Amino acid sequence: LLPNSAQARDVAYLLHPATNARKHERTGPIVMARGEGIHVYDDAGNRYVEAMAGLWSVAVGFGEPRLVDAAARQMGRLPYYHSFSGKSSEPTIDLAERLVKMSPVGLDRVFFTNSGSEANDTVVKLVWFYNNAIGRPEKKKFIARQNGYHGITIASGSLTGLPTNHRGFDLPLPQMKHVSCPHHYRYAHEGEGEEAFADRLAAELEARILEEGPETVAAFIGEPLIGAGGVLPPPATYWEKVQAVCRRHDVLVVADEVINGFGRLGTMFACDHYGIRPDVLVVSKQLTSSYMPIAAVLFSDAIYQGVADGSDRLGTFGHGFTASGHPVAAAVAMENLDIIEERGLVANAAAMGEHLRARLAPFADHPLVGEVRGAGLIAAVELVADRATKAKFDPVGAVGAWFYARAHDHGLIIRAVGDSICFCPPLIVTAADIDDIVDRFAAVLEETAAWVAAGRP
Ligand code: PLP
Repeated sequence: LLPNSAQARDVAYLLHPATNARKHERTGPIVMARGEGIHVYDDAGNRYVEAMAGLWSVAVGFGEPRLVDAAARQMGRLPYYHSFSGKSSEPTIDLAERLVKMSPVGLDRVFFTNSGSEANDTVVKLVWFYNNAIGRPEKKKFIARQNGYHGITIASGSLTGLPTNHRGFDLPLPQMKHVSCPHHYRYAHEGEGEEAFADRLAAELEARILEEGPETVAAFIGEPLIGAGGVLPPPATYWEKVQAVCRRHDVLVVADEVINGFGRLGTMFACDHYGIRPDVLVVSKQLTSSYMPIAAVLFSDAIYQGVADGSDRLGTFGHGFTASGHPVAAAVAMENLDIIEERGLVANAAAMGEHLRARLAPFADHPLVGEVRGAGLIAAVELVADRATKAKFDPVGAVGAWFYARAHDHGLIIRAVGDSICFCPPLIVTAADIDDIVDRFAAVLEETAAWVAAGRP
């Protein structure tokens, strides 16, 4: 690392999220300098295809001037105001109304936060407050899934079902439980079809609720399609079956659409794609294409009425953030949603997703590939040591990490979750962009196969 370079100063001053700090000290970061459309450029001028839309989030691509203008206009008018103590601001109100009107039927209220993690912490506190308010204080447990991702704060990190986010942090909290991951390729029994697998998962959920005691279980939370856990579409009929279990035991259904929402699955919400009627819906990321941090919790009138009565009795609903409903973030969200609607980006995601999956499908026969999977414009290719037994590489993730690094050499940014190579490009991609992404992927896959064949020197 050159003395005083951005890389050297990064290593001198930063602790990075989700990073092996000692390894990072040796390699330093790639410092991104600018972005345009689906491409980003580092400070040395190298161009990369951003096939992950940043962190699954830059729906409209980089450098969109309409979002810059929307932010500047709102900055000039009212750069900040809060929504505590009887205050509000117009963009915040506009966005709340718009989200309610566009969301799945039956969600009537919105609470804003700055991140998906805070939003899921808000869900936990909202549901706890609600159950206290309506006189069932023992109904507090949340059931989530292994490999689900809901964030990293104390409560949301507890809902997350990935050991890497628990290790070293004394998580999960005791109120947070996990049931099996709905990934057919990895967890179905030999010869078990998708629907039979879904039956078994629903039965497991019901048994768990009964074992814990339905009077103690408040909510079931899941991403309609698991994203950060490796792009894991649920087996057919999974959501209708788990929802039926939840309804039987008066357990709220929380859909975490932080990655799925605003077109990723080729429908505005993944709840539409899978027929989910949630009591609570969480969105973020593509809401502003991540140009500004914001997240929203949408919830039913029943929950609102309980919370409102409770806050009346206690004198306040004592939860919220300095930047809850930040007017600049809300203004950017409004413009971003306009762009998604005007440019037909949800339909484009559906069409380009079909093209992406068609282009990836032939790799299912590659000697290094265990599974090709996806839905809408999100997909993954899982690399395995042995296709016949589905055995993973040892250690898990080493081949994925190698692939990730080589992809940079090919000007391609993907994400490796363990040894699953993930694709989640901006919703603005064209068929030519998809072809370019898949061609680069194919080249990296060949290099990886040669490296593995050579004994991973
Ligand atoms: N929920 C889901 C489904 C996510 O994918 C993420 C982040 O990737 C979060 C919650 C947490 O969001 P944030 O990183 O903004 O806290």
